[in-house]
Order: sequence, then structure tokens, then C-alpha cells
Amino acid sequence: MRDCIIIGGGVMGCLVGLRLRQAGVAVSILERAVPGAEASSAAAGILSPQAEAHHLGDALGLALASRELYPALAAELLELTGVDIGYRRSGVLQVALDEAGQLALGETAARQRALGLGVEALDGTAARELEPGLAATVRAALRFPHDGQLEPRTLTRALAIAARRAGCEILTGRLVHRVRSEAGAVAAVVTDEGELPCARVVVAAGSWSGLIGGLEDVGIDTTTVRPARGQLCELDARTPPLSHVVFGPGGYLVPRPDGRVICGSTLEFVGFDKAVTAGGLSAVLHSALALAPGLATAPVTATWSGLRPWAAGGRLLCGPTAIAGLSLATGHFRNGILLAPVSAELVVDHVLARPPRHVLPAPS
Ligand SMILES: Cc1cc2nc3c(=O)[nH]c(=O)nc-3n(C[C@H](O)[C@H](O)[C@H](O)COP(=O)(O)OP(=O)(O)OC[C@H]3O[C@@H](n4cnc5c(N)ncnc54)[C@H](O)[C@@H]3O)c2cc1C
Repeated sequence: MRDCIIIGGGVMGCLVGLRLRQAGVAVSILERAVPGAEASSAAAGILSPQAEAHHLGDALGLALASRELYPALAAELLELTGVDIGYRRSGVLQVALDEAGQLALGETAARQRALGLGVEALDGTAARELEPGLAATVRAALRFPHDGQLEPRTLTRALAIAARRAGCEILTGRLVHRVRSEAGAVAAVVTDEGELPCARVVVAAGSWSGLIGGLEDVGIDTTTVRPARGQLCELDARTPPLSHVVFGPGGYLVPRPDGRVICGSTLEFVGFDKAVTAGGLSAVLHSALALAPGLATAPVTATWSGLRPWAAGGRLLCGPTAIAGLSLATGHFRNGILLAPVSAELVVDHVLARPPRHVLPAPS
């Protein structure tokens, strides 16, 4: 008998599954493809609550807490699986290329210092002394020393291995059509291979969460959870041209220790279309070369896209619903890798009816 079914085997589903299993819950993860098939493997792997503070809004506190959980999670996954997820506290630079951008950086620094966060302000010369690969047009930068990065594909793989080893059942190629409730409580999930009875269900189906039937009564449908496409490109610089992750006005660069540089990203609401387009790549490369012109000679080694789960109002959908036994773990949009550890704690506390370790921001 299973105690809990998780729909979706991305970073959310696998980490929630691992944590529930470690708490003694019998868990099945139903994944229509394979674990990590979607956004979780497509991500750039930036862990930057501070560069993303504007997008995170009220969820900044959760994101900061989640960042602090990563060193222990990386060590735990290495011990459980032998897989190194590439977690590095590399620091993140947010740079300005014009006067308006420089003013905005000043405001960000003041706001974050008032919150007690670590921020270093650099002029253009100091930024280039730190990162000689930066463009001569960089006028100013903020350095967030506690932010970092990891390898999302490796993270997702390690989480799936750890979840399986802990005893989670992971059913691949298993499409969930709907969640069936009776008298206001979860009764079963309906899959392409029949119905599986279960009193506790966690929806972690990313951008596809709105397509699952039976969730309309808790406000989850294709208008409230939507895919936001992001296109990325990998360059091979052979030697890392930067040590920090760099955010500019139009995109970011994520330097890996082996010389790969991930350049991102577009943000497009084009339905479930995962195409990599000429316009998208052109925008990503234009922004990359504006930040680090020396990358112009680096070969393009990969391009891909993924679908970020956006929820109406930019809300995180983590935890209880009005249907007894039904929890949500989606809506993580552009920061789901960063937010995964804290989100898993939110969901697990709800499923196990434990006192919550975190508080989800109220919808504005
Ligand atoms: C281009 C890009 C760059 C990003 N960069 C970053 C970054 O640098 N840092 C960061 O923190 N975040 C980043 N993100 C966001 C992050 O990737 C997502 O927020 C996060 O991966 C969402 O995880 P998830 O498990 O909810 O969704 P997913 O990884 O999409 O997993 C959902 C899973 O559910 C399965 N599924 C769907 N429907 C069903 C069904 N009906 N039945 C069974 N299974 C189903 C899917 O096959 C999928 O495997 C990025 C995203 C993109 C696309």
C-alpha cells in the first residue's frame, strides 16, 4: 500500500519524495516520461536569491533560506549516491551597462543592505579587475558573495537515485489524467493504466500541473499555471572566462569549472512549444556577447529550451489545498532549483501535519 502519490518526477517531485520516504511514508512518484525530463534538467542552475530578488518578491525570505540548505543537500546527495551536483558558492555579479542600470543597482544595494544581506558595490574598473573577461562597457556591478550555482541535470539525476535508494517507487512512462476526490477528500489518481487509490497526493507536475483534471476546484487549471519558455545556449570556452555567474540587463552567463558557459535566457509565453528559435538564440547570444565579448570565438556546443512553471500572480503553490489530502508543489517559475529544498520542507510539513518550518507568503 502506498501512503502518498506524487505526480511528476522533476526536482520538486523527487525531493519531496525523498524527504517523505525518509520520514517513513510509502511514496510512489508517477512520471509521464523519466525523472528530470523537463524544466529541472533544462535550468541554468543559478542559486541567486539576491540577483533574483525583484522577481522573487515576497518569496525572497524563502529563497534565502533555501540557499542556506544547499551545502547540506549537496553533501547528503554525495553521501547517498556518490554524485557530485556541482554546487559552488561562486558568487554572482549583477552588472550595469548604462546610467539607468547603475542607478537601479544603487537602489538594489540599499534595499538589500537594509535587510542585512551581503552586497559589495564595484565600479567598472573594480569589476573588470575581479573578472577581466567582462566588457569594457560594464559601468558598475554588485557582487553577491553568498550566491552560487550547481549542475541541474546532475542534481535531478542524483535526487532520483537517492529517492529510489530510499525506497520510493518511481513509475516512469505513467501519465496522470486526473485526481479523483470524494466528499472533499482525495480518493485516487486516474492514470493511463487505470486508477490508483490513495488518500494523499502531491501535484508536482511543473508547467503541466494545470492540465491535470480534478484540480479546478482548488484553482489549478491552464489559466492559473502556464509554461514560460526559456531558451539557453552552451558555449565551450575551454578555460573558464569568468569565475562568477554574471547577470546583465538582457541575460546571464553561468561559467562552469570545465570551461562551458551557459548563456540564458529568453522568457516567452508561447504555450507548450519547446522550440529553439533563431530569434531566441540571437537574443541570448547578443546579451552574452554584450557582457563578455571574448566569448565570440567560443564554439556553440548545445542549445535547448525548457518550460518554467509560472503561476498566476507569480505565486508559489506549495502546501495545502481545500481538498483534504491534496498538496501542491509547483509555480516555482524561474527559481525552482533554488527553491526546491525549502519547498520540499513546506510540502512535507503539510503532508505529515507537522508544525510548519516556513511560512508561504500570502497572495497579494
Ligand atoms: C531555461 C530555464 C532556465 C532556468 N534556470 C533556473 C536557474 O538558473 N535557477 C533556478 O532556480 N531555476 C531555474 N529554472 C526554473 C526551474 O527549472 C523550475 O522552476 C523547476 O525545475 C521546476 O521543477 P518541477 O519539478 O516543478 O518541474 P519539472 O522539472 O518540469 O517537472 C515536472 C515533471 O512532471 C512530469 N509530468 C507533467 N505532467 C504529468 C502528468 N500528467 N503525469 C505524470 N507526470 C507528469 C513532467 O514530465 C516533468 O518531469 C529554469 C527553467 C528554465 C526552463
